[in-house]
Amino acid sequence: MRVQSPYLRPSYSRRHKKVISMIVRTISHDWNDSGILVEVPSKSICLIFVWMIATAQVFSARAQSTQTPPATGQPAPQTSAPVTQQTPPAPAQPAPEPAAPPQKTLALVILDPAHGGADLGARGSSGLSESDVVLSYARLVRISLEAQGLRVILTRQANDDPSFDDRSKVANAQRGAVFITLHVSSTGQPGTVRVYSLPQMTVAQGAPAAPRGGLLPWDRAQFKFIDQSRRLAELIQIQMAQRFRGSSETPFEAPVRQLRTVGAPAVAIEVSSVSVPDRAPLDQMGPGLADAVARAVAAFRTVYESGGK
Ligand SMILES: [Zn+2]
Repeated sequence: MRVQSPYLRPSYSRRHKKVISMIVRTISHDWNDSGILVEVPSKSICLIFVWMIATAQVFSARAQSTQTPPATGQPAPQTSAPVTQQTPPAPAQPAPEPAAPPQKTLALVILDPAHGGADLGARGSSGLSESDVVLSYARLVRISLEAQGLRVILTRQANDDPSFDDRSKVANAQRGAVFITLHVSSTGQPGTVRVYSLPQMTVAQGAPAAPRGGLLPWDRAQFKFIDQSRRLAELIQIQMAQRFRGSSETPFEAPVRQLRTVGAPAVAIEVSSVSVPDRAPLDQMGPGLADAVARAVAAFRTVYESGGK
C-alpha cells in the first residue's frame, strides 16, 4: 500500500509555489521602493512564512525518498539530483590488542657432571675415572657461564650419584633453562669433543601419541625441545671444532638416556678420552672447553629469546 504525505500532492505544491512567488515579488518591490526602517516588520513576517513553506517542501521530499518507494511499473519521479540514502559510517571498532608474546628469557644453565658416587663412568688404564674429570670440567664451565651473566646449577657438587630423573628434575623445575650433561669417553680420538642431541625417533618410540589429560609423560619431556636441542648442539660443536683439532664441525644424534627426560633444550658433551696415560691432557682441555660452552650458550640465548630454532 502506497502512503503519501499530503505535502506531496502536486496541486498543493503548485499552489504554494504561486504564493511564494507573490510574496517574493512583494518583498522585492517593498525592499526596493521603501526605507528599510518601515518595511522590516512586514518583510520579516513574509520571510518567516517563506521559511515555513520551504521547510515543509524539504521534509516532504525527504519523506518521499525514504518512505514511499515508487510502485512497480510506474516511472520514478524525475528529480534534479538523485536522492541517495547514505548510511553513516559505522563507528570504528577498536582493534583487539595483539597478545603480548610470552616472555622467554634464557637465564639458567643446568650443568650435569655425569656419573658419580659408585658409578665412576669410563675408566682409563692409568686409573682415571670419568666421574672425577667431568666434575672438574663442570666447575670450569660454571665460571665461564657465570661470566656471561647466566645462572648455573650443578646436578651434583661432589662425588654423589643422583638418579637420571633427579638430574632431569632440576631442569624441569625451572623455566628458561638449558641442560648440558658432561661425559668423558673411553674411546675416540684423544683431544676431540663430540656434542649430542636426542634423535627425533628416540623420543617418539614407545611414547603415547598424545599427552593424557594434558600431562606430558616423563619419558617424552624432550619431545618438543628436539629442534632447539639440535641447534644448541650445533653451536657448541662449532666452538669445539675451532678449539680442538680433529673435532667434527657438525653435532651428532644419539639416544642418550639422560636427555630423554629433560623438558628443556638439552645436549650431551663427550670429551675423548680417559684412555690417555695421564690426566694432564684432559685438564688442559678444561679452559677451552669452558670457553666454548659459554660462547655457544650465549649465542644460543639470542636464538632462544627471539623464538627461533
Ligand atoms: Zn659418561
